[in-house]
Amino acid sequence: MFSRDTRGRKHPEAEHPYRGPYQRDRDRILHSHAFRRLAGKMQVFTGDMGDYHRTRLTHTHEVASIARTLGRALQLNEDLIEALALFHDIGHPPYGHAGEDALNECLQDHGGFSHNRNALVIAEELEVRYPGFAGLNLSHEVLEGQRTRANKTQSYGPATEAHPGPLLEVQAVEAADSMTYDAHDSDDAVKLELVTMGELQENALVRDAVAAVRREFTGLSDDLLRKSVVHALVDRQVSGVLEHSAAHLVTCRNLSATEARQRDFRIGPPPELAEQKRELERFLYERVYRHPRLVAVRTQAQQRLRAMYDGYLRRPELLPPHFQKRVPLVGLERTTGEYLAGMTDRFCEGLYQKHFPS
Ligand code: MG
Repeated sequence: MFSRDTRGRKHPEAEHPYRGPYQRDRDRILHSHAFRRLAGKMQVFTGDMGDYHRTRLTHTHEVASIARTLGRALQLNEDLIEALALFHDIGHPPYGHAGEDALNECLQDHGGFSHNRNALVIAEELEVRYPGFAGLNLSHEVLEGQRTRANKTQSYGPATEAHPGPLLEVQAVEAADSMTYDAHDSDDAVKLELVTMGELQENALVRDAVAAVRREFTGLSDDLLRKSVVHALVDRQVSGVLEHSAAHLVTCRNLSATEARQRDFRIGPPPELAEQKRELERFLYERVYRHPRLVAVRTQAQQRLRAMYDGYLRRPELLPPHFQKRVPLVGLERTTGEYLAGMTDRFCEGLYQKHFPS
């Protein structure tokens, strides 16, 4: 995607003298409230489990870094990739996927809740930065990329001329997101002693990474072994995706961005690596995300969000004034969901104790 070919913004703005459209998008995202709050939102592990593991913010930066590496090597638009990556998780509620599931349940008769759709609401309605209009007024391509994430059915069917796939830049961020969490969740899980490195090696991808490290170094401490294995995990995935994708993308050299997305190809791992990743993700799901220590946190977080949701429905006067103004537009239920979704884990906990102590 060439920056000069952008379809522009909903509210037309003059070009910036030295920043391209996607650089401006990146800056708007970076300076938004929702982005800063990612620092206080958990990825998989809560703040009371220590301060080593990833938060939603550091996850986002790791995705941006890996996505830019892919973009540089594949000669894609790095500015667009960076904007998309910094934006991709901005709609996450407190307490990770547990929080998302709870809000989705609360809102089931009011359109449900998904963090991917919430990112669009934040960018188009909730953030207030400009006097003339609501929202960040991001470029069409950034919003469209996020819409693809919000509507996964669109991104999974084979791409055709009538139903093009996502832009290559969107595909690169998607691939980077999955590589990033596979590697850092493995790292965090071992560091937090939810699983051992030995158990993790039931998975072929990890086994290969450990073997690669051991070929190069002997006598590593457990700590250095774990860190080296994480590097190797990222490296193997990035190399795999690059080799697989570059072979196809050379055939797209002379195509426009529109033509390239009509090809039935997705930037991603080759089949064997994809299977190893699925296997690792199954392992993480069963042994880490469902670990009793995490289940306890999930259960408590979901009870808290449900109690707060019901509490605000009963006492809407507790909503901040700018959210009260949204009630006539989207209804009390969705407004409450949007307000809860914007909270950091700690802010949510504090308000729960303040207004709705059990
Ligand atoms: Mg993510």
